[in-house]
Amino acid sequence: MSGLSVCFPGSWDQVVADLVEGGSTANVMAGGTDLLPSIYRRQLSPRRLISINRVKEARAIARRLDGLIIASGATLAALEEACLPPEAESMPKVAPGGIGPSVSGAPVTAWGVLSQAAGVVGSAQIRNRGTIGGNICNASPAADTIPPLLVLNASVRIVGPEGPRKLPISEFILGPGKTALASGEVLREILVPNTPPKFRALYIKFGRLRSMDLAVVGVAVGLVLSEKRTVDDVRIAVCAASPVPFRATTAEDVLRGSALTGEKVTVASRLVAQETRPITDVRASGEFRRELTQVLVQRAINTITGGAVS
Ligand SMILES: Cc1cc2nc3c(=O)[nH]c(=O)nc-3n(C[C@H](O)[C@H](O)[C@H](O)COP(=O)(O)OP(=O)(O)OC[C@H]3O[C@@H](n4cnc5c(N)ncnc54)[C@H](O)[C@@H]3O)c2cc1C
Repeated sequence: MSGLSVCFPGSWDQVVADLVEGGSTANVMAGGTDLLPSIYRRQLSPRRLISINRVKEARAIARRLDGLIIASGATLAALEEACLPPEAESMPKVAPGGIGPSVSGAPVTAWGVLSQAAGVVGSAQIRNRGTIGGNICNASPAADTIPPLLVLNASVRIVGPEGPRKLPISEFILGPGKTALASGEVLREILVPNTPPKFRALYIKFGRLRSMDLAVVGVAVGLVLSEKRTVDDVRIAVCAASPVPFRATTAEDVLRGSALTGEKVTVASRLVAQETRPITDVRASGEFRRELTQVLVQRAINTITGGAVS
C-alpha cells in the first residue's frame, strides 16, 4: 500500500473537489469495513482515500415532518437505534450472535424495518464503524439495508461536480459493485418518506450463522391491511437472490387491492421466487435460494398478519 494517502475534507463540496482532483485513483471512505479489506486483498489499489468522517453533519439522522433524512456517514449502530419503532420497548429481543439458521424478528411499524436490518449486519464492531452509505455504495447483492430501503420507497441525494441530484434507491444500484454514481459524485444522504398509517413491516435475514455472515437470502415485506383485511398496500423486496436487490412488483400486484388469502400468498410468494436470479456459492445453491425466497416471503406475510391468513 505504498503511496496511499488519506485526506479528511470538512465539507461535501471539498469531498467532491478532492474526488475530482484524485480522478480514478481516489476512493471515498466511510467506515472502511468494505473498502480496507478490498485494498488489503489487492482488489483495489487507490492512491488516495477521501474520508467523509470529518464532514460536518455527515452522520446526522434527522426526523422531519415528511420523513427521515439519514446522512450517508451515519453508522449502522446509530441507524438501528434511531429507527427503533415506538413499540420497540415491549418487543422480544433477537438473540445476538450464536449459531443458528436464521435471524428474524417481530413485525414493526414506521421505519422499524430499517432498524431491524441495520441490527443484523455483521457484528457490533462492524455496525459501530460501518455506515449506511457504505452499505449502499458497496452495492453488494446481499446488502442488508437495501430491502428495507426499497419497501420504504427511499431515495438518495447525490452531490457532484454538476450539482445535486436525487434518485429512487431502486435506480441507484446497477449491478454487483456498480452504482449510478458518476465520476466525482458522492452519496450525501438517504431520504425515507413517512410510512402510511397501519403500515407494518418485517425484515427476515436467513444466514448460516446468527452474526458475522452475509444473508443467504434476505426478505423485507411491508403491508397495509384495511379493517376488512383487504391489502391496501404491499411492498416486497429481496436481497442475495439476484445480482441486484429488487422489489417484486409482479407479486405485489397480485396481492394489492384484494382480500389476503392463503392461496393468494402462495401464488405471490411463488412469483417472487420466479423473479430471482440466484447464484450458487459457498453459502447456498441457487436452487435453495429460490426455494428459500418463497418460504421467507410466506413467513414474513404470515408473521405480519399474526398467522391469520387462511
Ligand atoms: C466481517 C464483516 C461482516 C460483514 N457483514 C455484513 C452483513 O452481514 N451484511 C451486510 O450488508 N454487509 C456486511 N458487511 C459489509 C460492510 O460492513 C457493510 O457493507 C458496511 O455498511 C460498509 O460501510 P462502510 O462505511 O464501512 O463502507 P466503506 O468500506 O467505507 O465503503 C464501501 C464502499 O462504498 C463507497 N462509499 C462509502 N461511502 C460513500 C459515500 N458517502 N458516497 C460514495 N461512495 C461511498 C466506498 O468508496 C467503497 O467503495 C460485512 C463486512 C465485514 C468485514
